[in-house]
Amino acid sequence: MAIQNSTNGQPKAKLDASKLVVKLAEQLKPLPVPETMTFGQTQTDHMLIVNYDPEHGWGTPEIKPYAPLVLDPMSSCFQYCPNVFEGMKAYLGPDGEPRLFRPQKNMERLARSAERVALPPFDGDALLVLIKRLVEIEKRWIPNKPGYSLYLRPTMIGTRPALGVAASDAACLYVVVTPTGPYFKSKARGISLLAVSESVRAWPGGTGGHKLGLNYAPGFAPQREAAKKGYEQILWLFGDRITEVGAMNVFAIVKRADGALDAFTPPLDGTILPGVTRSSVLSLLDAHTKGKSLLPGVPASQKIYTHEIPITMSEIKVWSDEGKLLEIFGVGTAVAVAPVGRIGYQGWDEEVVLPQHDGGLGPVGKGLFDHLMDIQSGKVDFEGWSVPVV
Ligand SMILES: *Cc1c(COP(=O)(O)O)cnc(C)c1O
Repeated sequence: MAIQNSTNGQPKAKLDASKLVVKLAEQLKPLPVPETMTFGQTQTDHMLIVNYDPEHGWGTPEIKPYAPLVLDPMSSCFQYCPNVFEGMKAYLGPDGEPRLFRPQKNMERLARSAERVALPPFDGDALLVLIKRLVEIEKRWIPNKPGYSLYLRPTMIGTRPALGVAASDAACLYVVVTPTGPYFKSKARGISLLAVSESVRAWPGGTGGHKLGLNYAPGFAPQREAAKKGYEQILWLFGDRITEVGAMNVFAIVKRADGALDAFTPPLDGTILPGVTRSSVLSLLDAHTKGKSLLPGVPASQKIYTHEIPITMSEIKVWSDEGKLLEIFGVGTAVAVAPVGRIGYQGWDEEVVLPQHDGGLGPVGKGLFDHLMDIQSGKVDFEGWSVPVV
């Protein structure tokens, strides 16, 4: 990483994990009953925070009691939205120690997101050291139950206290964590999707390929409209092409005449968020087909060929009519793998209804879900993806 000089000619400080100051809470909060938690609504005891100012660069990282931020009302984060975030999880391993899943990928993506909205660069390795320390300190918040984990939300916001429309030369990087359980509670069936093309989540040359806060608010009103029509999530389209399901990447499993399967997901053309789960699912499907690591419950002889190519609504309809469309599922950190049950679309006379399975997931989705859970919780190793925090 290039070291920039500040206005007084002194090199600006890099993010330095060895400077960490830890101030523990005097009183710890009571732990919630895991089954009653709603996603993202539990505040734990501590947070990580470090500020960047244009004069000195990165300041002293602190792990301190969870508390509100105090910001100048002119801060650019409130005005022009140079706000970026990550979503990752810590899982308890069989040894009772927390583990992260491919965390380097989140650090790299956060750095790319920050660069896209001209926020200052940071050292991803240093941030990961700090995050591991936070997870270690908040370990008691990880429910020791299958399917539960600690969701981590690294966030970086522009804090330049001025109204001029310009890049924020000051920033606040913080990480909050929250215990989380199975995302779609006891849902034994697939989610319903309304395919929407009038509102567009992402477009060529836009910012959909980055995890920027500004990509999400424009989806809230369409999501509310979809809910009024009885659909749980939006299937985002660009023209006739499907792009993502809510805030998840999407896969379609289609049967060939010879019994082999094709797994389609849209390519990373800038309109698709490059999900860590998406990339992992592609690798796990390839590993199964090459016989390197089998998906639980999927026969070793079952070939599944992956394709990163556009999928259109017309194709979905044709595959469904011909009985070849076996599964559609969304993938992302929060849910791992979420089955789709039915899709409604203005251009169609009737909904496309996917084959129904006990528990919602079809054989491929279930195999991926179980395999991911085993890898993430450290029960099974796959290419060193699961990393202990200590
Ligand atoms: C975060 C996100 C995903 C999933 O990414 P993961 O790294 O797998 O969690 C997919 N789509 C959108 C729009 C997202 O914000």
